[in-house]
Amino acid sequence: MEVLSWSSRERVERTVVLNKALLLEVLRAAWEEGDASGSDVYARVARRYARHTGYVPSKTEVVSGYRALVAEGALPFDREFLRRLQRKPVRTSSGVAPVTVLTKPYPCPGKCIFCPTFINMPKSYVPDEPGAQRALQNEFDPYRQTLSRIRAFEAIGHDASKVELLILGGTWSAYPRDYQEWFIKRCFDAMNGVEAASLEEAQRLNETAPHRNVGLVIETRPDAISPREIVRLRRLGVTKVQLGLQSLDDRILALNKRGHTVEDTRRAIRLLRAAGFKIVVHWMANLYGATPASDYEDFLRLWKDPAIRPDELKIYPTSLLENTELYQYWLEGKYQPYEEQVLVDLIARCKTQVPRYCRINRVFRDIPTPHIVAGNKKTNLRQLVHAYMAERGMQCQCIRCREIRHQRVDPATLRLDVLTYETDVTREYFLSFVTPENRIAGFLRLALPQTPDVVPVEEIRHAAMIREVHVYGPALPLGTDGEGEAQHSGLGRRLIAQAMAIAREAGYREIGVIAAIGTRNYYRRLGFELRELYMVRSL
Ligand code: SF4
Ligand SMILES: [Zn+2]
Repeated sequence: MEVLSWSSRERVERTVVLNKALLLEVLRAAWEEGDASGSDVYARVARRYARHTGYVPSKTEVVSGYRALVAEGALPFDREFLRRLQRKPVRTSSGVAPVTVLTKPYPCPGKCIFCPTFINMPKSYVPDEPGAQRALQNEFDPYRQTLSRIRAFEAIGHDASKVELLILGGTWSAYPRDYQEWFIKRCFDAMNGVEAASLEEAQRLNETAPHRNVGLVIETRPDAISPREIVRLRRLGVTKVQLGLQSLDDRILALNKRGHTVEDTRRAIRLLRAAGFKIVVHWMANLYGATPASDYEDFLRLWKDPAIRPDELKIYPTSLLENTELYQYWLEGKYQPYEEQVLVDLIARCKTQVPRYCRINRVFRDIPTPHIVAGNKKTNLRQLVHAYMAERGMQCQCIRCREIRHQRVDPATLRLDVLTYETDVTREYFLSFVTPENRIAGFLRLALPQTPDVVPVEEIRHAAMIREVHVYGPALPLGTDGEGEAQHSGLGRRLIAQAMAIAREAGYREIGVIAAIGTRNYYRRLGFELRELYMVRSL
């Protein structure tokens, strides 16, 4: 290995030795990506470097490495790039600190042909994926994983008093119930800084804890959702569910051995929506048996079918990995990944079809390149798609493409945008405050259930339901004021007042909210009271 070395005064006089080819590759990739607005360039470079070597270079090391490569003529000098590399990390721009934790390796009932199996990993996870690495280092212990993430945020100057907890790892509902409860309790213990005697106590403590839980996400399969499961998820404090639907074509589902049908997906989404959950779906392109044309048709079903219409979306083009059944098909010549340009064109066309109420979280799964046998290996696929779209005047209207992130806003210039749409069981209101440039400063999702009997939980059967309130701006410590930053200019309250007015007008006598444990006091101040699983107030 050719190395780049120089001496450094940082970390006690020593010679820094970095893998030159790798540093060159990650710096060049970051440079080519241009200014992915608000993203921390140093963090991106360091993360990618660490993924291959396990070593996290410091900012000084990366900057010195860049200068050395420029001096050698290996990279062009770009003042703007250097400035971005040196810039202070942006604070958590979506307003909360996301903490991802993985459950222990455990078998999944699924037999999906594209899904990898690695020893010592939960089903579908690849050992050197960033999140998986951290989980492994902490031996999948929920307490240690949560605590180390919170500490890592604080070490780089982020505020972590509001935590969104994302629990990943195969199929949540397949784990034993006592493991689920223990796992979540230990995450709460870490946020609380004290050990509670029970999950209920840990949740109660979190209402006033230093790190409050403002969202709790699990991932599962459509056939695992039932009315009973809904109640259990609420008891655990879950507010958002990621559902792997993968395709809306029963033929494709069967070919890929998904083991569930489109009707199962409809039923799951119906129950989740009627119970006020936020719904993220995973949709896959390039599955076995699909073509770019059939994928595009399938993508349109996400919006045409009133039973689907998700709040957030992760697009996962199939990555061909060795430890899968699909790999055999590929060896036998029965499966072929799309060419890069075909994939970029497909995703670009899909993006133009996404309604304004949906957020596209990802357009590929971040699997370390060496594991991918064939097909797309570009980790900057999103940038490639955006460049392709910009050249052709194509536009994505999704929330992610329009959110203000850490920008300052003048509340006086904001306009309330009201978008309504129907699902099979609710009338949905997507209320957003937008800037004169049409950027979103905050939004609220209100669901008006059309018949009480679709609601799987008694205590909210006759209530309008606030499914989500999200206000952008840097995460500020609880109780502090950020001048002009969206989170603290009362946008949340204004959105809630608007939702109450709409519900009252529609004849509802009460309104509920699927409040995360750490937001209960916020809603109490607005007149909501805790029932068993939801907070409700009369109108
Ligand atoms: S359900 Fe999910 S985790 Fe289980 S085999 Fe299928 S893709 Fe993998
Ligand atoms: Zn978008």
